[in-house]
Amino acid sequence: MNNLGIKIEAYFDRLWPICRSIMGPGFRRSLDILKEVVPLKYLEFKTGDKVLDWVVPKEWGVNDAYIMDPDGKKIIDFKKNNVHLVGYSIPFSGTLSLSELKDHLHSLPAQPNAIPFVTSYYNEHWGFCLSYNQLKTLRPGKYKVLVDTKLRDGKLVLGQAILPGKSKKEILFSSYLCHPSLANDNLSGPLVLAFLYDKISKMPNREFTYRFLFIPETIGAIAFLSKYGSSLKKNLAAGFVLTCVGDAGDFTYKLSRQGNSLADRAALRVLKETGKKFSIIPFDPAVGSDERQYCSPGYNLPVGSLMRTQYTIYPEYHTSLDNKSFMDFKCMEEMVDTYYSMARAIEVNYKWQNKKPYGEPQVGRRGLFRSLSEKGRQEDELAMWWLLNLSDGKNDIISIAERSGARIEVLARVADKLEKAELLKK
Ligand code: ZN
Repeated sequence: MNNLGIKIEAYFDRLWPICRSIMGPGFRRSLDILKEVVPLKYLEFKTGDKVLDWVVPKEWGVNDAYIMDPDGKKIIDFKKNNVHLVGYSIPFSGTLSLSELKDHLHSLPAQPNAIPFVTSYYNEHWGFCLSYNQLKTLRPGKYKVLVDTKLRDGKLVLGQAILPGKSKKEILFSSYLCHPSLANDNLSGPLVLAFLYDKISKMPNREFTYRFLFIPETIGAIAFLSKYGSSLKKNLAAGFVLTCVGDAGDFTYKLSRQGNSLADRAALRVLKETGKKFSIIPFDPAVGSDERQYCSPGYNLPVGSLMRTQYTIYPEYHTSLDNKSFMDFKCMEEMVDTYYSMARAIEVNYKWQNKKPYGEPQVGRRGLFRSLSEKGRQEDELAMWWLLNLSDGKNDIISIAERSGARIEVLARVADKLEKAELLKK
């Protein structure tokens, strides 16, 4: 693993213990840590603000939460694992019988070792999550319960960074940061996003403007769209939601609602060029992340999502087993590079026009390529013939790559060469 993987891991370890939720001190503290990598600006909304069809809820903070068994022993302790507490639990303190307590306990009989991740953002509820194996050990008696939480009027905070380019046309990268100590879903997304920012900030001569969003899932995207949705509708060239990008599984690409948007075409071409196994899944509004908001019919933005192993299908998903041991930091490094290649593919995706379209131009005379006619041809030369033939002002670089099999970076480099030789124009 090189430097980048090690850096990602160090940030993972610092962010891991924080109890995050959609709003509150854990979310803000996490943004403050990511700010060391990305110069985030915060957009804020207030509790009670109406955003599209939603209302910004209260902020949630936790001091302590536990359950004591009839012997006075703490058997569930939020401080040992923050997944134990149902997210947005309202305050409660009291003594309950086992059967009363069970109404507030969540476990997974099918995965007896796992503590499930449960939230109740918009309905007042308190509860604890525990493994089914632990649940089975509870015996009748009086249980002391403390849920020392606070729900108060506060702020919904969205972290945003923008890298300007020559054009107002935008590429959006969006991830969320609202789960407590969970790894693939969730910490992997904002970590890859932060280091992708770092890499794109060093890209020379950026054509596009880049927007990076670190938001709480759903309510964050809804709030963002309530303010910037119409400007995105005008200017968004392509966008991606980063989620489940931390494990070592094969790539999975979820298409945008449009199905053949620039985002989709760039992603699929780049994945093909990696030579690795990948699968394509259709847009699905019933399951997923913030692409559900970006691709809602009123916006219908060109936003897809490149992941490793898709949410919901891996058994560790939304349980305490989605932890560091499931992560592969070398693969996260590769994810940063793959998203970067997708941005590059969009950057160089011009439509070129052949200035000498009648017959093949005599390239040898222009000293463009080797002058000897010999066996075996270079990648650059193949790209040249395809570019000269398909550059009729209608085909973009991605479509020439699709048809020729030539790599995008090679096509872009050769197109620049042909422009200098006055054979192509943009
Ligand atoms: Zn999730």
